[in-house]
Amino acid sequence: MSKPVIDVERFWKTIERSAEIGGGRPGGLSRLALSDSDRQVRDEFIEWCRAAGLNTRIDGVGNIFARRAGSDNSLPPVVLGSHLDTQVNGGRFDGIAGVLGALEVCRALDTANHRTRRPLEIVNWTNEEGGRFSPPMVGSGCFVGTYGLQWTRDRRDDDGKSIGEELARIGYLGDQPASPHAFDCYFEFHIEQGPVLDRDGTQVGVVTGGYSSTGTLVEFRGETAHTGPWPMERRRNALVAAARLLVAVDDIGWDFAGSGGKGTAARLVAWPNKPGILSDWAQTVCDVRHPDPASAAVMAERVRRAIGEAAARANCTAEVLDTWTWGGRIFADELVDLVRAASLRRGYRTQDILSQAGHDAYMVAHHSPTAMIFAPCRNGITHNNLELCTREDLAPGLDVLLDVALTRADR
Ligand SMILES: [Zn+2]
Repeated sequence: MSKPVIDVERFWKTIERSAEIGGGRPGGLSRLALSDSDRQVRDEFIEWCRAAGLNTRIDGVGNIFARRAGSDNSLPPVVLGSHLDTQVNGGRFDGIAGVLGALEVCRALDTANHRTRRPLEIVNWTNEEGGRFSPPMVGSGCFVGTYGLQWTRDRRDDDGKSIGEELARIGYLGDQPASPHAFDCYFEFHIEQGPVLDRDGTQVGVVTGGYSSTGTLVEFRGETAHTGPWPMERRRNALVAAARLLVAVDDIGWDFAGSGGKGTAARLVAWPNKPGILSDWAQTVCDVRHPDPASAAVMAERVRRAIGEAAARANCTAEVLDTWTWGGRIFADELVDLVRAASLRRGYRTQDILSQAGHDAYMVAHHSPTAMIFAPCRNGITHNNLELCTREDLAPGLDVLLDVALTRADR
């Protein structure tokens, strides 16, 4: 039995194979959740897991769990994972590095003929991005009970297809209910998706928590009418109500930008959205986030007020269909300390960092002790086909992932 080591070339080959599935703009991926390309990468991932001797199963919302047996399988597993779906203009590493990094950990243990005491488990969460079905992180959210099983399956994309229908179509509607089995702990390795680590020359980011964030899905209703003769004072243009809200959210972001706040107008759809006619329906997605929870709460309250004001100004009605929150300091101190210690022991340039993006880890943290490991990505570019990491950018984080997984699984 030798000491397990990460084989970066083996990991990189798997990343490159993944990057061939669901190609988008040059260099990037467009692998939307439960699309044909998502099915293809899931099929390959399961093949890779089987080849590594892992036992795979699929739950009722398509989350894939792949278990490597321990010497005492009565103990809950140490779980490592992330997501294989991407944004419509996504990169090759966001989420993918975490799932395939977990696979590399299992392969490294096999190569070293190392049997851990506790089982290890890899997870690929369904629809982390929310790029096709809103809200994001819905697979992990359903698993931990934040969202109901049927509610999750009923989420629909722009073409009216539901998560449940699409899971069945691609063969990933598992028979296991999406209810949580016990985890010993959960580690998620992920690229930072921000510029801090790359700028500072840091090799490993120790994620202490995340920006407190609130996303909102709002529907506005008005009345269709002719764009010419219809008097201004009688207009009920839902498109205008939605536009006013999105500008207000952007303004809120600017008002808090000095202290690190962000306000995002992410999406506007309207019907009929044609020349010559006022729209009687519009839907928006927006979010606000801030490193300080109190400021984040103020921003979220201002969004709530802005919804009413935007509707009133356009003489429309507004309904909040869904809100979702994530972030805060909800990771387990003991695990965060373990990540930091492992990185320093390896001699890597290390810093504590808050995540500004949403991750499945925030959902899982409601269920079991959780921590995240960040790797730098060039200039922080992400959700963009130009997202770029090298082997050297990812290798230190993979080493740390291996170390903390072993520490936990062998205790
Ligand atoms: Zn991600």
